[in-house]
Parts: sequence; structure tokens; C-alpha cells
Amino acid sequence: MDHYGVLGNPVEHSKSPAIHARFAELTGQAMDYCKLLAPLDNFAQALQQWIDSGGRGCNVTVPFKFEAFQLAGTASERATLAQAANTLSFGDAGQIAADNTDGAGLVRDIQLNAGVSLAGRDILMLGAGGAAAGVLGPLLMAGPRRLVVTNRTHAKALDLVARHAKHPSLHAMLQKTELLALEQQGLQANFDVVINATASSLSGGAVPVDPRVLKPGALAYDMMYGAAAKAFSDWALAHGAVPRDGLGMLVEQAAESFAVWRGVRPPSAQVLQEMREALA
Ligand code: NAP
Repeated sequence: MDHYGVLGNPVEHSKSPAIHARFAELTGQAMDYCKLLAPLDNFAQALQQWIDSGGRGCNVTVPFKFEAFQLAGTASERATLAQAANTLSFGDAGQIAADNTDGAGLVRDIQLNAGVSLAGRDILMLGAGGAAAGVLGPLLMAGPRRLVVTNRTHAKALDLVARHAKHPSLHAMLQKTELLALEQQGLQANFDVVINATASSLSGGAVPVDPRVLKPGALAYDMMYGAAAKAFSDWALAHGAVPRDGLGMLVEQAAESFAVWRGVRPPSAQVLQEMREALA
């Protein structure tokens, strides 16, 4: 039996153990997966304890994704672009390899599960925190016409965009895609896809953008899910957009982590359907 878990603070609310248990059951993998509360001031020690106790890998959630990346000895290209990791794998001598599956999860949920192609579209992303950092590279790789990042703290959006704009692996994509960081007042109207990667839904705050950014029928995607996503969903419906919550991203990023660890892709669409029914 191989052991995995999710380290975070808080972590009690996490649905990852249920998702991975179902993936393991459906693919016949001998593994278990638990919640691991890490102290806010000592993530490194909690991670080392998990490695020493025989863990084979872990997911990392708020607020440790940046620290997890720093602690790793090696990192995938997508984790390097994000400078953040949500998936760690451990070698036999305790070496830590970092990956970031958030972007792959988001893009798969939008394109495959929601059936919305991102190629040639105009995308607006709200936020420049850990989640936004994790998804910007994979969104670019999907080939949009324009990808705009806007954030309450503009300097963070500028940094995020600048880091991606100068990364050699994205040069070819940036011939096709206009990548910009803009302040709210500089935003044009009419985006095909608006992604809320801020924590505004979590704090019950207002949707942090003017509704004129939504093209009629646009996809309005909130990374939040469950009751917390309702305000954003209501806002989208009231302005002629099609809302989608982040449950699919959650299941798809977990499926990608599972594939990294086990070399097997689990049936994520089936598990997403089961999770939706359980939430309803
Ligand atoms: P984070 O690193 O703390 O970043 C928070 C971001 O939200 C920052 O851009 C921040 O702006 C912005 N923000 C916070 N409150 C705001 C408000 N009231 N109005 C406008 N902007 C606000 O958090 P994170 O890791 O990026 O997570 C962001 C959200 O994504 C969380 O709700 C998280 O649960 C969700 N998420 C979902 C999945 C999934 O699988 N579905 C995966 C990852 C994350 P400033 O820079 O100005 O502070």
C-alpha cells in the first residue's frame, strides 16, 4: 500500500481524499490518501515528517504552493513557470520533485467537460495569486487570441505576465497570443471566457470586475465550487453569461496528479459526475 496525502492549512474541508480514494478504487491501485494539517510557520518540517513516515507523494494546497516549489530539488516545466507546486513526488532517498497540475485541470475541464475551445478566443483572468500562476502557462498553451490578467494589486499581475512573456518555452505561443496585464479601467469589453482565480468568492466579496467584460454567452468560470460559488454564478447569469464552478478543475487536477504518481489516468468524468450528485 502506497501512501499519499494533501498538506495545507486549513485542510479539513479538502475533498481530495474522497476523490483519490475513488480513483484508486476504479483503477485498482493499492494506495491510500489522507489530510495532513501543516503548521503555518513550519511547512518544511511537516513535509519532511511525511517523507520520513514513508509517504510516496502529496498534494499541496493553500498557502504552501510557493514554499513547496522552493523546497523541491527538481521541478517540471509547468511548476517552474508557476513558481508554485501542488503535486510533489518523493524519490527513494527522499528527493522531492515538484509539479503543478492546476492548469492542466482547468484547461481540461473547460475544453473537455464544458466543451468550450480556448483556441482563438479572448480570455480574461481575474487574480494573480497561486491559482492564477498555476494556470497561466497552460491557458497560453491552449492558443487563445488574447489573454489578459487583471488583479486588485496590479504589480502582481505585471510580474506574472512578465515572467511568462520571457520564458523561452512560450515564445512560439506568444507569436499567436497577445498576453497583457491590465488594470480594471483599461479592460476592453467582450471576452469569450472570464476566469475568476481570485479568492473573492471565498470571502463573500463582490465579483471583482465590471460585467461589461462578458460577451453574450461567455463562459464565466469560478475556481470556487459549492455554495461559495453562488454569487459569481448569479452574477454571470444576470449578465447573459454561462456560469461554471471549479469542481471540474478540482477533479481534473487531482486526476493529473494521480497520473503523475501512478502512471494511470483515472476516469475523471465519472468521478466528477459522482461528486456533483453528492454535492447536490
Ligand atoms: P492566493 O494565492 O491567496 O491569491 C488570492 C488572489 O485573490 C489574489 O490575486 C488576490 O488579490 C485576490 N483577491 C482576494 N480577495 C479579493 C477580493 N475580495 N477582491 C478581489 N481580489 C481578491 O489564493 P489562490 O491559491 O490563488 O486561490 C484563489 C482561489 O482559487 C481560491 O478561492 C481557491 O480556493 C481557488 N482554487 C481552486 C482550485 C480548484 O481546483 N478548483 C485550485 C486552486 C485554487 P491581491 O493580489 O490583490 O491580494
